[in-house]
Amino acid sequence: MTLRVAVVGGGPAGSSAAETLAKAGIETYLLERKLDNAKPCGGAIPLCMVDEFDLPPEIIDRRVRKMKMISPSNIEVNIGSTLKPDEYIGMCRREVLDGFLRDRAAKLGAKLINGTMYKLELPQADSDPYTLHYTEHRPDGLVGDDRTLQVDLVIGADGANSRVAKAIDAGGYNYAIAFQERIRIPDDKMAYYEDLAEMYVGNDVSPDFYAWVFPKYDHVAVGTGTMRVNQAKIKSLQAGIRKRAAKRIEGGEIIKVEAHPIPEHPRPRRVVGRVALVGDAAGTVTKSSGEGIYFAAKSARMCAETIVALSQAGQRIPTEADLKTYIKRWDKEYGTTYLVLDILQRVFYRTDATREAFVEMCADIDVQKLTFDSYLYKTVVPANPLAQLKITAKTVGSLLRGSALSPTRTW
Ligand SMILES: Cc1cc2nc3c(=O)[nH]c(=O)nc-3n(C[C@H](O)[C@H](O)[C@H](O)COP(=O)(O)OP(=O)(O)OC[C@H]3O[C@@H](n4cnc5c(N)ncnc54)[C@H](O)[C@@H]3O)c2cc1C
Repeated sequence: MTLRVAVVGGGPAGSSAAETLAKAGIETYLLERKLDNAKPCGGAIPLCMVDEFDLPPEIIDRRVRKMKMISPSNIEVNIGSTLKPDEYIGMCRREVLDGFLRDRAAKLGAKLINGTMYKLELPQADSDPYTLHYTEHRPDGLVGDDRTLQVDLVIGADGANSRVAKAIDAGGYNYAIAFQERIRIPDDKMAYYEDLAEMYVGNDVSPDFYAWVFPKYDHVAVGTGTMRVNQAKIKSLQAGIRKRAAKRIEGGEIIKVEAHPIPEHPRPRRVVGRVALVGDAAGTVTKSSGEGIYFAAKSARMCAETIVALSQAGQRIPTEADLKTYIKRWDKEYGTTYLVLDILQRVFYRTDATREAFVEMCADIDVQKLTFDSYLYKTVVPANPLAQLKITAKTVGSLLRGSALSPTRTW
């Protein structure tokens, strides 16, 4: 027999899963509802993704080498001096990145279907197939016929509003809403953002996250996120970041407004039967940074590699227990990263005093090096013991100075 796998969703997660499966000779279907989808996203990716996912240089629109952290009282700390000349944060357009990854998976043998899955029919017996019901989209943009597809295994890579997750009763998760305006600014203002990104913290821009100005291809993305999901609140926070960045984006024209949920933690069940969730559908975005592209692609690749290995390259159908080994591998490899970033968010994004402390701490060179290394390479390289001690003392000192550790404070 040859294993048949349907991957629902052709974002970074879905295409990465489909690529690995197709390369191994497994019969792979990649279902994407919108082939020119421009996912609402800042588009920042770590350097290690460029190598690990063989991204050609033209995928990266900008190479950010400088970051500005801006505190509630507008104290600015420049970070980036620890970067080596060839190190950078990549900025890309999602329609370009997603299109590239999807086409590559298709070239390697995945059967790309332009369609929207509207129902996943679960099998009655263990050996029965899953049936996907989808509406096909025609190249002329018109809605085509309803169709079905039968497979042995399903990967849900259909993002934060995953229908696959609902079909398997994977359980819900808390989420933040990220709101972003794409603003085309005058050339002299754009020159300032050539290789620079800004992160703003403060109650005025987000009660529990950060706001940003990221350079994109020919404009900047100005946005914010919060777990306090309320339309009026989000609009007032967006007004807050626009006000803070006012001088730098003066004369700008809003060319696009977008918003989308960002999962805050994994779903209670990421594998049910012969269905596995990956990327945002599973809830792989990290706290503190809200980073999800790399973790989506990486979780999907790990899931697909597990399927290839345990199906003996498509010769047997993996069971639920087999698929769960992907979850074990994932949690083992990244559990600590998620925990540390969750703690950082809880400690530092809480009050304006803790945010001031956070920005102050970012001025420290050892802190900068540790932060960049962890972000760019996704390996927490421990600082030498002396630097580690210094970082700890600095953290506590900054928090105390900001009265953030005051015994009377209620958390
Ligand atoms: C405003 C904002 C800014 C962000 N900035 C960053 C950033 O700078 N860096 C970063 O790393 N992360 C960022 N993120 C997070 C990042 O966008 C996500 O984590 C990432 O896109 C997850 O990839 P994915 O493949 O799991 O899901 P998605 O990218 O959401 O892809 C899901 C795909 O599935 C398709 N689909 C959905 N339902 C169906 C269906 N029923 N049938 C067929 N196809 C379907 C969709 O069209 C889509 O192409 C940001 C998020 C937001 C909202």
